[in-house]
Formats: sequence, structure tokens, C-alpha cells
Amino acid sequence: MSQATLPTAFLEHIHRLLGTATEDFVRSHAETAPVSLRLHPVKGSGLFDDAARIPWCGQGRYLSSRPSFTLDPYFQGGAYYVQEAGSMLTGFLLSPLIDAMESPLILDACAAPGGKSTHLLSMLDGKGTLVSNEVIPQRNKVLQHNINKWGYANSIVVQNEVTSLRDSGLKFDVVVVDAPCSGEGLFRKDPEAVQEWSPEQVLVCANRQQQLLEALTPAVKEGGYLLYSTCTYQPAENDLQVEKLVRSGAFVSCMPTDVPEGIVVSEYGWQAFPHKVSSEGFYCALLRKTRGDSTRTRSEKSAPGMKFKQAASLLKQPERFIYSSHEQLVSAMPRHTYDILSALKKNCYIRQAGLTLGEEKGVDFIPSAALAFSIDLQSASYPHIDCELSEALDFLRAGSPTFTSSVRGWHLIKYKAVTLGWAKNLGTRWNNYFPKSWRIVQQSNG
Ligand code: SAM
Repeated sequence: MSQATLPTAFLEHIHRLLGTATEDFVRSHAETAPVSLRLHPVKGSGLFDDAARIPWCGQGRYLSSRPSFTLDPYFQGGAYYVQEAGSMLTGFLLSPLIDAMESPLILDACAAPGGKSTHLLSMLDGKGTLVSNEVIPQRNKVLQHNINKWGYANSIVVQNEVTSLRDSGLKFDVVVVDAPCSGEGLFRKDPEAVQEWSPEQVLVCANRQQQLLEALTPAVKEGGYLLYSTCTYQPAENDLQVEKLVRSGAFVSCMPTDVPEGIVVSEYGWQAFPHKVSSEGFYCALLRKTRGDSTRTRSEKSAPGMKFKQAASLLKQPERFIYSSHEQLVSAMPRHTYDILSALKKNCYIRQAGLTLGEEKGVDFIPSAALAFSIDLQSASYPHIDCELSEALDFLRAGSPTFTSSVRGWHLIKYKAVTLGWAKNLGTRWNNYFPKSWRIVQQSNG
């Protein structure tokens, strides 16, 4: 991308922000965007060991070129998430806080496609509960898929305007608002973001961000944290939004003093610029709530003691979970996640909660795709098939498998260390249970 293709009004604003460094900034837009990913803490262990590290994220890696992620079973099995390096700064800010909390309740208010949510689930490492919200239905489906692939049961996905989350009365220890924005930080890799940009659009975004932040302020517990981020450079969408929160008296800024090299410190936040660090543009700010707004607290309704008879053989630590069924679908989730679900049910549209184990059909039990991806799966309970790459890709394309096994019934399909899904051996043929809606359509080259 050259200076000529960046909008003039945008360049004027960058000049006001960066002064003489504008030239370096524009030059960086002619360079290829870096490729980066974040490893799953369990499933991604040992992958990309030789790749360069992202300085502010232990599980972050830079790749020297862009492979076909779609055709990589490790990607399809949730062993890593492809994410901008700058976005991983949210982990740098939040992981020390989350580590110090016993059972945090976290809200990711603008969650699709799931970059921050999967990162938060890694940080939680099974404790507490993450509520991920995405208001747009199509984007919510992608979010559910990515959360399923990540494989943690302490998660609830909802689809609401943020006012419904506020009205649930729940008080969150951490609220993440990765707000819809004018997207200037994506200009280098996404020409559409340039087409959609205008000074008017910046104002529309700033208004929407203010509404989101005002609506979500009561949802942050007193003493809890608000992480606000965008992928743009506009002060109206960044520092000025945070300033309003600080001026309201409800929050204080609590940015750490150890700033990763190359990250630019503004009055209230941190900014990644592509001419300063190997990343697309990103802004983030961390605030602490100083006062509460109401007495509504988290629901502590106790969960039903229902036990699902087959659960003991499906999960590694079945006693950690409680079980519920809706129609024929059976789910498992930690008790504290169930309590949160009960509170959310009053005014939120729940899209997914905990881990769906499978479906009871007469005497048969059809294990779910989510169970295959789960880090809690007791995989020794089922026979498995170790696939070659071509077999794994055929399975992910929902092809008709021709595996060999002396055992009839359910088999886990694995590619090296990752589990991809289920197939059933009927004796004369196999049925592929990889969900049709997740199947990959891209063909390999050659
Ligand atoms: N956090 C995501 C991640 O890391 O993968 C990216 C979030 S993206 C920057 C902003 C999201 O906010 C979009 O998915 C968009 O659909 C959603 N959104 C748009 N309008 C919204 C609204 N009024 N309330 C809540 N979310 C909204």
C-alpha cells in the first residue's frame, strides 16, 4: 500500500498524531503484514518451536510466511489461533490480574470471531467463567466454532445488545470491550477497511463506543477491571473514550509501568504502530472500577445435582462438572458456570453454555464435535484412528472415511496430537460425524 492509496484526511490525522514519524508509518504500509498466531496452552505445546517469539505474549509466534491455515489439521483442531500480535497485548495486561483471582467472572462484550475470548480461556485455564457476547448472528456462529475448538467448558456464549448483559445484574471481575471501530490499524492488510473509512465513520464509531462503555460500566464489579481496546489510531475512539470514564469518577487508569519495547504510551493507553513493532495497529487501556452502582450481585442459585450416567467415562475429572439436559442434548459445566448461566437466562439469549457432550438418541449416545475438541475429554475411553495428513483433510471436508479398525462403533479421529472429531465404524462402512457447517471446502494444491 502506498501513500497515494491512504485517504488524505487520514494522513492529515496521522500527521497530527505522529509528526515527522508519519513517513516511517506510511512506509511501513508498503511492507508485508507479519503473520502471527497464539498457541493453545495444552494442544499447541511444542508447535512452532523454531518460530520467533512475540515479546509480550509467551504463546505468541511470528511465522516467516503465511501457510494455508485452513488446510492445517492443527489449526482445525484448535492447537493455535491466528491473531494479530498487537491484540495479544490484552493478555500482557490481564494475565497477572487473572492469575491473582480465585474464580473470576469475565465478560468479553464484543467477542466475535473469538481472538480475545480464546486468549481469556487460556488465561483462565479452567477456573472461573467467561461470558462471550456477539450481537450479530452470523458472527456469533463463528465465535461458537472457535470457542468449541479451544475446548474449555467454563464458557457461555450469548447474543445480545450489551444493555441485556447490564440488566442481568451480574457483576463481572473483568469486562473486555474490544469495540467495533474505524479499523485504521487494519489498512495495511485489508483494502476494504480503507474503502469503508471516512471522518464521518470515525464519529459514528466514537458514538457507538461511548454507548457501549456507558452501558457496560454498571456491569463491572467495584474493584473490578475494564479493558478497552480498538484497532484504530483515532484519539476520539481511544484516549478520549477512556478519559470520559476516568472523568466520570467511576474508574481509575491502571496501566502497568513495564511497557513492551516499541509500544507507544499515550495518556491513558498503549498503542501498537506498524512502523514501531511487528504488528498491525492496536490500542488498549486498562481501568479499575472505583465505585459500585447498585447492590445487584451475582446469582448464587445452586445447581441441580443431576448426574449423567455416561459422563464418568467421557470426562477426565467428571466430579468437577454438573450435568444438564435440554431436549436430547446433554451438557456439562463447572458449578460456578452453571450459576452464571442461571442469572443470564433471565434476559439474555444463550447460544452455547459449557461443554455439549452429545445427544441421546434412544439407547444410543451421539458424542458431540465439541467433546472431541475438549481438553477435558477422557480420550482413552474410545478407540482412535491416527490419520495421515490427506486422511485428516478428507475427514475435515466431511468425506466418507475408509479407516481400518477391528472395533465397531465410535472412534476419535486424530492427527498427531490433536483430536479432530468422531467417526462411527458400522462394520461395512464408516459414518463421518464432523459437522457439515464446519467442514473445510478448500482443496490442496497439487
Ligand atoms: N474481540 C474480537 C476478537 O478479538 O476476535 C473482535 C471484536 S470486533 C473488533 C468488534 C465486534 O463487535 C464485532 O464482532 C461486531 O459484530 C461487534 N459489535 C458491533 N456492534 C455491536 C454492538 N452494538 N454491541 C456489541 N457488539 C457489537
